[in-house]
Parts: sequence; structure tokens; C-alpha cells
Amino acid sequence: MFLSDSCRAYVLAEQGVGSARNTSNCVYVELGKSIGAGIVIDRRYLEGNHHMAGEFGHITIDPTSDSQCNYGKQGCRKALASISSIVHRYAKLSGGTLSDRNSSHVSEVFEKAGRNDPVALNVLDTVAKAIGLGISHLVLLFNPALVILGGELLHGEDLLLQGIKR
Ligand SMILES: [Zn+2]
Repeated sequence: MFLSDSCRAYVLAEQGVGSARNTSNCVYVELGKSIGAGIVIDRRYLEGNHHMAGEFGHITIDPTSDSQCNYGKQGCRKALASISSIVHRYAKLSGGTLSDRNSSHVSEVFEKAGRNDPVALNVLDTVAKAIGLGISHLVLLFNPALVILGGELLHGEDLLLQGIKR
């Protein structure tokens, strides 16, 4: 399943029976292994020419970054804020103190941040800025009544949400 398919399913479900059922304009943001958005404007799902609208995870936000996404793009939002990038950046900056670099170990980074590990806090600060900045762009571009966040990164919601809102 393409990311756009899952974002489409989530945003249409939220609009049909969920938290967005009373609004015509909403954005669902997937935060996890991938990062993307499903966008509904005037009750119509925004498809784009190749059904790729909402792929905002691959927008470059730090061209000087040495982090790459799975497509080899440097400094895109996914390269800085996806689950695997969090695990890799933490392992790299800390000298490899995670049990391994599998993306399932993002919970270890959250735990370390919860214990005020400065490297984990630094990595999550970068993540929150990358996501928060992206959401601010989506709000300005599409003027939604509601932005819905979903995905596995929300397991670290208590650590990320304040930074995203800021
Ligand atoms: Zn990318």
C-alpha cells in the first residue's frame, strides 16, 4: 500500500465517521515509518496528478543535513523525522548505545528522552521542529478546520506534542 493510500483511507474515515465529520476541510498527517498527509478540501480528497498530493514527507527542510531518506534525498522531512531516522540519528549521535538500529527501537529513544538523555532530547527536538514546521505549512496552504495526527510516532506524544505545537 502506498503512503497516499493509507493517508487517503484515514482522512476519509475521519471525515465519514470520525473527528472530522462536521468539517469540509481537514488534513490527516501520518507520522511513523513514513510521513505524509491526506488532504480534504471542500469535502473532496486532494489526489494530484499522479495521486501523489500530500507527499510532504519528502519536502527538503534542511539541505545541509547529512541524513537521507530511503530515496537518498538529503534533509527531507522523512530523513529527519521518520521512525527509522530517529533511531539512526540517535545511534549516530550517541555512539551507538541502542540495543540495535532496528526501527522498532524508537521506543528506547522515547524512554531515554523521558529520562532527560540530552542526545535523545536533541533528536526529538529536531523531529518536533520538522513536523511542526510542516504542519504550519499545511495550515497556511490548505486552511483546514482540523489537523489530525496519526501514526506510530504518537507513542511519544507526551514528548513530541509540545514541541510540534511550539
Ligand atoms: Zn525523502
